[in-house]
Amino acid sequence: MALQGASIIITGGGAGLGAAAAVAVAKQGARLTLVDLSEDGLRAVEQQVHEAAPDAEVLLVTADVTQEADVERYVTEHLSAYGAIDGFFNNAGIEGKQNLTEDFTNAEFQKVLAVNLTGVFLGMEKVLRVMAEQGRGSVVNTASVGGIRGVGNQSGYAAAKHGVVGLTRNSAIEYGTKGVVINAIAPGAIMTPMVEGSLRQIGGDDWEAVGRQFVEPNPMQRFGKPEEVGALVAFLLSNEAGFINGTVIPIDGGQHIKY
Ligand code: NAD
Repeated sequence: MALQGASIIITGGGAGLGAAAAVAVAKQGARLTLVDLSEDGLRAVEQQVHEAAPDAEVLLVTADVTQEADVERYVTEHLSAYGAIDGFFNNAGIEGKQNLTEDFTNAEFQKVLAVNLTGVFLGMEKVLRVMAEQGRGSVVNTASVGGIRGVGNQSGYAAAKHGVVGLTRNSAIEYGTKGVVINAIAPGAIMTPMVEGSLRQIGGDDWEAVGRQFVEPNPMQRFGKPEEVGALVAFLLSNEAGFINGTVIPIDGGQHIKY
């Protein structure tokens, strides 16, 4: 198994893509720290992990990735449990309200940036220090299609996710000689609680019809599945992907070809 014994931290591990990645890496033998604001979410994902990989070691840390002390705490608790950080899926994020730039509001902009950009930076700051000392490690940051093209009505999300791409490229240059690889994924529309929430913002009770329209321009005309993203993350966190560095990998059914 590609990740046998590897110790991996996943933020946003209480739902969606973080949950799918947790299951995928646990099936390959990884030991996990799952970080999330939602304690209920973490417990539910722990159960899913144990259904898929009964012997998997799982540490749960309720924390807010926007708070430096919380980030320090999840890193410290992970190191106390496992002694090293082999992989880091730096993934927690929110979408924020859909609105024109002029109506977006500074408060909403700051809120989305705090989670999606500052939270990602703080995680990289603390984890890369440890990985550099170890001389090994893999970081996967969650960007988005919204980090490589304009989507509209998403000022905060667009700014943050383009920022995640910048952080990824910048740090990949700094840590390449230290045995640490840093990549980002750019998912298209993957059916998770976050995407359901934004479809409900647009379509109310008709959100499923809005969803069908939404994926029509996609070459595959469907939503991605969280487990498809989980499989990509598991690969990128494994030694098999050891020469992939500083890259932003779209996982979007081919939609990026049209940008
Ligand atoms: P989700 O809402 O299903 O899960 C996100 C998880 O992050 C939740 O469990 C939530 O509690 C947690 N979280 C939110 N704020 C947090 C904070 N401050 N501290 C700790 N945990 C926090 O969303 P998802 O679809 O799984 O999204 C995961 C990541 O993927 C996000 O960064 C999102 O922007 C990105 N993304 C998702 C899609 C998609 O289509 N689902 C597409 C592109 C990018």
